[in-house]
Amino acid sequence: MSEDCLFCKIIAGEIPSTEVYRDDEVFAFEDINPAAPTHILVIPIKCLRDITAATEEDKNTLGKMLLIANQIAHERGLTKDGFRYVINTGRDGGQTVFHLHLHIIGGRSMSWPPG
Ligand code: 5GP
Repeated sequence: MSEDCLFCKIIAGEIPSTEVYRDDEVFAFEDINPAAPTHILVIPIKCLRDITAATEEDKNTLGKMLLIANQIAHERGLTKDGFRYVINTGRDGGQTVFHLHLHIIGGRSMSWPPG
């Protein structure tokens, strides 16, 4: 856990969130400012700054994040019409919270390319 990390505080319950999934490696919760009818963040319990900070030792956690995200996408009924996974990375990638997170965004049609 990092002292000043917002998402570490959410994992610890110091900041309230609407929990979607939790185990000893992965946590998922509703985004506070949803960009679509479904907007869930899937994060590792381990505080990685962003996806580029991941190493060989994190590969099982990264795989698990994707599989949990798939499970949530199924549960939320997103897989029939499609949805989007997003990992914003760094300043130009639009990252605002520096604890790795996978966005699950769905429930409406989306455009491409992103802004
Ligand atoms: P980023 O821009 O870093 O890819 O995404 C950060 C996301 O975290 C944003 O979608 C934002 O709405 C969400 N977020 C920021 N602060 C909070 C919070 O306190 N609680 C929750 N649930 N989501 C947050």
